Amino acid sequence: MKITIKKSDITKESVDAIVNAANPWLSGGGGVDGAIHKAAGPELITECRKIISKIKKLNTGEAVITPAYNIKNVKYIIHTVGPIWQGGNFEEDKKLAQCYLKSAKIAAQNGLKSIAFPSISTGAYGYPVEKAAAVAVKTIMNLEENFDEIRMVLFSDYDLEIYERELKRYENK
Ligand code: ADP
Repeated sequence: MKITIKKSDITKESVDAIVNAANPWLSGGGGVDGAIHKAAGPELITECRKIISKIKKLNTGEAVITPAYNIKNVKYIIHTVGPIWQGGNFEEDKKLAQCYLKSAKIAAQNGLKSIAFPSISTGAYGYPVEKAAAVAVKTIMNLEENFDEIRMVLFSDYDLEIYERELKRYENK
């Protein structure tokens, strides 16, 4: 399985699915969530409301899938809710790992072969990027599903460097 780390706007990627760092109400917002909703168009919020009317809220570490609507070169969006950083003693690492695991599971269930992830929880949710990168890389490297490619899409040079360093560190273990 190919693991790629790059700097980009995730809405511009060509993959079977992009992952959204959503909120429990799938209501859109800022950060990557806002960018994805903007790029997908209004049909996405309509679909999200339908899902929420059934499940009430999406719990931390869970994931749901929707079409990608107006996002070119992407078939699906997998929405997951990352943990809010509370200092590290509230199973944030386990919950963050769950986001990657559940997203991969739902992708595999839908026959998808390539997934792009953003750096879940490290924006508004305040998870330190160094710690989040360690969890993300370790979880992705140990996925039991077999994808053609998992892509980590970072939004800043700093985040890119952190994830690249973490991947190298992990490969040399
Ligand atoms: P969370 O609430 O899970 O912390 P955020 O969207 O606030 O989610 O931040 C998660 C990460 O996504 C941050 O590193 C942020 O810089 C990054 N990000 C924001 N917009 C985009 C985008 N268009 N493509 C990829 N990553 C993005």
